[in-house]
Amino acid sequence: MEFKNANLTFDKLHIVSLKEKEEIIVHHPAAYFATPEQIHQWHKERGWSGAGYHVYIRKSGEVYILRPINTAGAHCKGHNRKGIGVCFEGNFSDWNPRLKIDKEMNPKQFEAGVEALVKLCKQFKIPVEKIYPHNKFAKKDCPGKYFPFEQLINTVGIKLQEKEYHWAQKDFEKLKADGIITSDHDLNSPLTWGEFSVVINRIRESIEKNKK
Ligand SMILES: [Zn+2]
Repeated sequence: MEFKNANLTFDKLHIVSLKEKEEIIVHHPAAYFATPEQIHQWHKERGWSGAGYHVYIRKSGEVYILRPINTAGAHCKGHNRKGIGVCFEGNFSDWNPRLKIDKEMNPKQFEAGVEALVKLCKQFKIPVEKIYPHNKFAKKDCPGKYFPFEQLINTVGIKLQEKEYHWAQKDFEKLKADGIITSDHDLNSPLTWGEFSVVINRIRESIEKNKK
């Protein structure tokens, strides 16, 4: 999954150091269908410099950068500087019964959302506990009562705990099981002549033992 640039133009943005980004706020645009350009337009009409969210996850599974992440957003009062605004296309609320409602999130959007959040958490060293729904900080229903927030956060949490699988992990485990290697190592760290000698000698001993 790649973050695509929506190529929107903003009048004026406040640059923020990436180190200041310490939390993620989740939203919906309360619109069943909305292109990045439409959101940009709607937010401009509110007098903002353009789309207030940094990241936008569409129902198709496409993920867009709306507003550069190293800038202040316009999505959650008091959290625009330190927060990364992530918006999921759809209307997950029945705030207006005349509008079409998303009572479920489709799997493509859910998976793209998980991947995007995992990527942001890793890149900005944000723990999963610091992903919040907008309604935590505002008297609003956003991201909507039908939004699968808990499910999303749980999946992100599990993914963040998974160790990244190294291509040599299986061989390393086999050597450990056979006693050729006796402790855990970072598989990308260099080997010393001392360690190399010990390992080679253990292999030699095990071959000799098998001969007898
Ligand atoms: Zn919101």
